[in-house]
Amino acid sequence: MCPSAVVWDSALLGYDLGGDHPFNPIRLDLTIRLANSLGVLDGIPLLVPEPATAAELHRAHVPEYLEAVKQAPMVGHDVGHGLGTPDNPVFSDMHESSALVVGSTMLAARTIAEGGARRAVNIAGGLHHAMRDRASGFCVYNDCSVAISWLLDNGFSRVAYVDTDVHHGDGVQAAFYGDPRVLTISLHQHPFTLFPGTGYSSEIGTEGAEGSAVNIPLPPNTADPGWLRAFHAVVPSLLGQFKPQILVTQCGVDSHAEDPLADLSLSVDGHRTIYRTLRGLAESCADGRWLAVGGGGYQLFRVVPRSWTHLIATVLDRDLAPRTPVPSNWVRTVRDTAPRVELPTTMTDDRDTGFSHWGDGADDAVDIAIRETRRAVFPLHGLDPDDPRD
Ligand SMILES: [Zn+2]
Repeated sequence: MCPSAVVWDSALLGYDLGGDHPFNPIRLDLTIRLANSLGVLDGIPLLVPEPATAAELHRAHVPEYLEAVKQAPMVGHDVGHGLGTPDNPVFSDMHESSALVVGSTMLAARTIAEGGARRAVNIAGGLHHAMRDRASGFCVYNDCSVAISWLLDNGFSRVAYVDTDVHHGDGVQAAFYGDPRVLTISLHQHPFTLFPGTGYSSEIGTEGAEGSAVNIPLPPNTADPGWLRAFHAVVPSLLGQFKPQILVTQCGVDSHAEDPLADLSLSVDGHRTIYRTLRGLAESCADGRWLAVGGGGYQLFRVVPRSWTHLIATVLDRDLAPRTPVPSNWVRTVRDTAPRVELPTTMTDDRDTGFSHWGDGADDAVDIAIRETRRAVFPLHGLDPDDPRD
């Protein structure tokens, strides 16, 4: 058995919102090219996805919405369902391209469930804002929700979803808000200051599923040490208690300091550290099963390709040293598209990702968020929110 699987096909570049929309598929293309240039994918067979079927999409979406998505390119106006907006413009083959994104995450999930791999990564996935009946935040169909729903019907009764995108994972939270079998945890920039305006620590799940939704809203400008401090104050304890059979992670990289759409201040080094941490938690808490998908990330040239190459490398246990040079052939490829962008020369931002334990007085702004989240959900999991050792 190959221990890890990578899902990729260039047809996934068809999910293209067009014009100067920030969700530009070049970020995926440049990631795969960088991973290839560095040898990360050497000898790894890529799993080629098929579009998700209507029956699969209905796991997370109502039939009327599917029809609206299919019809939208012909209708062109007044399609409703969040379509035809600046965030979610109608594009040709929208249904087919969106269904392929879902199919790619489904393939990753199925490969793990059937024992073909313990880990799988799909950088094209992570469309976490899509709702049952509408598009939102650049997302048409919610691949995360469809795949988790499928896992629940195929041998998994405890699924943990951890969302490290800068935006709240609202669509996935909404899909499982009343389902105690799914623990959703989202770390994101505070909803006062960023789309979608949800993800408060008080959002904990509905009756019967209290504590199954966990939210850690972080102050703008939070950097690697603060983000990691918050993560470690909340996530490992909850996963240890919940004991998921699989860890699903949305690995959006719009939390980077250079991202044009948001205001957290993480680095490529922070992202790399997060992936290594998630891998360790999958090993210690989830029988080693880890399904990683992409997500947001709009610094197309300097950030996304490097961070997600680290993600793929981490999933494959082919960790790249931070000071690994960025290959010159990749740089030439980017220059053809973006001649004026100043490109990084190595796989690091030279940032120190060391962090200290919550409650030590080093970061009071982040600790306010940590305490609110712990007090909201820790007692529901049999944990002491005020225990400084935890
Ligand atoms: Zn995002």
